[in-house]
Amino acid sequence: MTQKVALVTGAARGIGLATTRLFLKSGWRVALVDWDGAELTSASADLEQVLPIECDVSSPSDVEDILSKTLSAFGQVDALINNAGVADFGPIEETDFERWRRVMATNLDGVFLMSQAATPALKETKGNIVNIASISGLRASTLRVAYGTSKAAVIQLTKQQAAELGEYGIRANCVCPGPVRTKLAMAVHSQDIIDAYHDAIPLNRYGSEEEIAEAICFLASDKASYITGQILAADGGFDSTGVGLP
Ligand code: NAD
Repeated sequence: MTQKVALVTGAARGIGLATTRLFLKSGWRVALVDWDGAELTSASADLEQVLPIECDVSSPSDVEDILSKTLSAFGQVDALINNAGVADFGPIEETDFERWRRVMATNLDGVFLMSQAATPALKETKGNIVNIASISGLRASTLRVAYGTSKAAVIQLTKQQAAELGEYGIRANCVCPGPVRTKLAMAVHSQDIIDAYHDAIPLNRYGSEEEIAEAICFLASDKASYITGQILAADGGFDSTGVGLP
């Protein structure tokens, strides 16, 4: 049987790298996409069966390159994991248009562009898409106007993809992680936010990169063959409560 191929964006570190490692452990090959060339080189140095691609998912021409390099090297795409993301915490009045666009460009445009470009290849394999949104796309809290709105849009985009691409055998699902101690989160989580998450989350802790990767790889696998259009919160129970954050 041919080895399956995953295309993982934002794969140089954090949740994307943990997801890459889990795919590799399950016998998949992985194209790792990231715009941080140095981190990508060091992340892929000790990995086999991978193709590192330094590209920006918010650039239409880069996205074309990503697909053509992946197909030249591996010949197919079975799962697209739209994981690349940037964070931005700030009050509405201080979120100028440039900041807003920076967040939308990667978190929303990137998911749209990558999914559109990968659709012909996914039709061939009856593959699937897993979009990584966030609990900030499910529930509003202060300071997350651009980030939360971009992630809420990704949730809706997932449902659109499931509705439209199902007839080709393509599934689309979404994982909404709770807080995880990655570079992205720790750049914006103050001690107050960390304490508030610990109090508000029923499991009283942050998640790990590996726990989120398990949810992603399950949805991408054949074990989830009848699951599409679903939004899975991997969040220690945060979304099931009404407890707020500062
Ligand atoms: P991270 O910063 O560790 O990793 C994100 C990676 O994406 C980085 O390697 C970065 O270089 C890359 N990237 C960013 N913009 C890119 C672009 N335009 N093109 C290519 N690569 C790009 O962050 P993480 O916490 O592992 O985040 C992964 C995903 O999970 C993101 O979508 C994030 O919004 C989401 N998420 C994270 C948390 C958390 O608490 N860590 C919570 C909810 C959702």
